[in-house]
Amino acid sequence: MLALDRAKPGFYGELPREAGHAERIAYERQHLGEDHAALGAWLLGSWNLPDDLVLAVELSHSPEQADRASLQGQFARCVALGGELASAFLAPDVRVSIANFAAHAEKVIGLKPEQVGKVVERVTELTPDLGRLFETTLLSAEDAMALTEQAQELLAARSVQSLQKIDSLEHAAHSAAARSAELEDATRRDALTGAFNRRHLDERLAVEFMAAQTGGWDLPALFVDLDHFKKVNDSYGHAAGDAVLRGAVGLLQQTLRAGDLIARYGGEEFVVLLPGTSAADARALGERLLKVLREHEHVVPVDGGQRQIQVTASLGLAIQTPKRPFPNPAALLAGADAAVYAAKRAGRDRLMECGITPPPPLAKTG
Ligand code: GH3
Ligand code: MG
Ligand code: MG
Repeated sequence: MLALDRAKPGFYGELPREAGHAERIAYERQHLGEDHAALGAWLLGSWNLPDDLVLAVELSHSPEQADRASLQGQFARCVALGGELASAFLAPDVRVSIANFAAHAEKVIGLKPEQVGKVVERVTELTPDLGRLFETTLLSAEDAMALTEQAQELLAARSVQSLQKIDSLEHAAHSAAARSAELEDATRRDALTGAFNRRHLDERLAVEFMAAQTGGWDLPALFVDLDHFKKVNDSYGHAAGDAVLRGAVGLLQQTLRAGDLIARYGGEEFVVLLPGTSAADARALGERLLKVLREHEHVVPVDGGQRQIQVTASLGLAIQTPKRPFPNPAALLAGADAAVYAAKRAGRDRLMECGITPPPPLAKTG
């Protein structure tokens, strides 16, 4: 469309400012015999861009024409839906536009309503960060709320059916949406702290690792291990230890962004994934986390009363970068783990980075 505007100055000027996508397409076809999808594909083709991209652009207004059986066709269908979803986010009534989108997505790539719900939820979650990147606000708080509600309704769609099958009467009183969100959450989260569990971490890490590899961006992974945590249990009891674990996760959640993932890796060990965060920002974030954890006074139950205690943590950072890639997700975590170990040996309450700070020698030889 920009190229058209250059080639035929004032071309779009005859359309009203508020003209939507469909109106623009109709206008283009009327005046040029083609729309911007066909012209865009021709332009990309003449620039020798890969066929997949050319085809995806060409079929972006008619995904049903893409071959369902081939990867290339499926890719084109996904790209077209991506464009439709963006339009649905910007439509005046998101409830209607997302519902229409869900129906179309099911037809075009067989996406179930609850899968659309997840996509909508995730995109809504990521939108503020994307907005910051472009120094603009993409979604108003109100729209974000409406989108989240719409996503929840879609997410509930499948469980509504299965619940009805099992026992429609017993469950009728419950909000199906709240229930399905709860069930979904229970399988992904650690019961004590509410952080994601190891299983979910593995799943997400695999996805983020692959995305970072193909997208060529950084994926920092941060290992967080509380210092001398055994002493907290020994001195104040297990309940106090539990309270500190919950408190520490709360502090992590407050300090991180919506797109970051916090998982409980083991007892007092947590892994934080920071997709799309630069190396410099990840280091700064690590230092901020250290400070927040160090300064917080946890109020914990001790012998029927309460006590305030402070706990520090050691952090290990490993960053998947295009220049220095790790071979697989496990290696990235192992790198972060090794860096924690180095931080412990260097005196705790500090951040060490895999491959940047060489760990001190274990023992002197000779
Ligand atoms: P370091 O600074 O070297 O990390 O020492 P540490 O004491 O933190 O590490 P260590 O691995 O020796 O001990 C971890 C302790 O965490 C031991 C275990 O009892 C405690 N722990 C693990 N899971 C839980 C839990 O769910 N609740 C409580 N209260 N304690 C836990
Ligand atoms: Mg430990
Ligand atoms: Mg520890």
